[in-house]
Amino acid sequence: MDQLVLKPGKERSLARRHPWIYATAVARVVGTPGSGDLVSVLGADGRWLAWAAYSPDSAIRARCWSYDQADRIDRSWLTARVRDALARRARLAEHASALRLVYGEADLLPGLICDRYADQLVVQLQAPGVLAQREVLLDALCEASGCRHVYDRSDSALRAREAIPATEGEARGVLRGREPAERIAIREHDLACWVDVRRGHKTGFYIDQRDNRRLAGELARELVATLGRAPRALNAFCYTGAFSVALARGGAQHVLSIDSSADALAMARANAELNALDPASLHWQCADVFEHLRACRSAGERFDLIVLDPPKFAASHHHVERAARAYKDINLSALRLLQPGGMLMTFSCSGAVDVDLFQKIVAGAVIDARIECVMRARLGPGSDHPMLMTHPEGEYLKGLLLQRL
Ligand code: SAH
Repeated sequence: MDQLVLKPGKERSLARRHPWIYATAVARVVGTPGSGDLVSVLGADGRWLAWAAYSPDSAIRARCWSYDQADRIDRSWLTARVRDALARRARLAEHASALRLVYGEADLLPGLICDRYADQLVVQLQAPGVLAQREVLLDALCEASGCRHVYDRSDSALRAREAIPATEGEARGVLRGREPAERIAIREHDLACWVDVRRGHKTGFYIDQRDNRRLAGELARELVATLGRAPRALNAFCYTGAFSVALARGGAQHVLSIDSSADALAMARANAELNALDPASLHWQCADVFEHLRACRSAGERFDLIVLDPPKFAASHHHVERAARAYKDINLSALRLLQPGGMLMTFSCSGAVDVDLFQKIVAGAVIDARIECVMRARLGPGSDHPMLMTHPEGEYLKGLLLQRL
């Protein structure tokens, strides 16, 4: 059996069950494990610590499967992990046909993402361990989900960081079953959405925002009741308009949606139609959000409900300062457009910007806007995107719900 022997003191992170072993923690490799092969991890004193998958060329040299020496990391063990992951989401599946079935470390399958869109599975295999076990995992996913169609949307940038050669499995393409349809209709609570799994963002859709879209609809309903009229809503960075649909469904009568991608907006229009919404109440603007919010202010526009869900501004810790300025800028612009009594749902999906920092940035924007706001709730992803307590790196999406007094 191949082994990784750690440097003295480097077993501490493993003792806390953090699943990653960095190259800098490894003293030596015993045997000649290949990419993705199973290895035993030993402490400097020779004590057995974990089963892990070896990544010969990555900064994360191994990812742990298990801390129990009695486990056999074989087909039946991997199949059990997949079944467990799906079982934990069984209730959610009653409310949505777009669902994250497997979320890597949080489902004890480091590097594996599997999203379901109706009867289509979309996977990302982003570490040598899950790539080496690909067929076993696909068998288990198909069997446990009842789906026969699997499409690969592995992120090539992430794969490059793992030093996985492009030849080792197509980064994009059909793995099982048929070529996915141009667009797949999914259901999420009471709304429907088209998803392009081949060209859309991530695996096609922002599944992680499901609960927050539902909340956006509820807030619109609340405002209808408290204002005694239909609220005016703004959805900045709307992508394919899923929040816009939720806002309109909740009773917002004027919904302005902004995105810089014409393709995303074309899909958004189709989504409005799919939900039988009145086209007169939805306004689609292909523009830069930073500029357009300023134009709205100059034009004296005001909104009762604003959703701000920008792309990841900080790709890593090196970009946090610049990202903070960008978050401050758009939040300030949005707050200046907010009516008294109005609400702002503001998000950051930058893992490098933690929730405390994000709250500080937004508080700074509130101060600069010279208004009073309360925080009604902290927001996060749905429960199909859980975070392993020993792997806080898995947390990325955070949001705040503010109300202007
Ligand atoms: N809220 C969406 C997801 C938003 S993803 C949902 O729930 O589905 C971020 C979106 O921001 C992308 O569609 C991207 O095209 C858009 N975007 C990125 N930078 C932008 C900018 N400066 N101005 C306008 N849109 C931008």
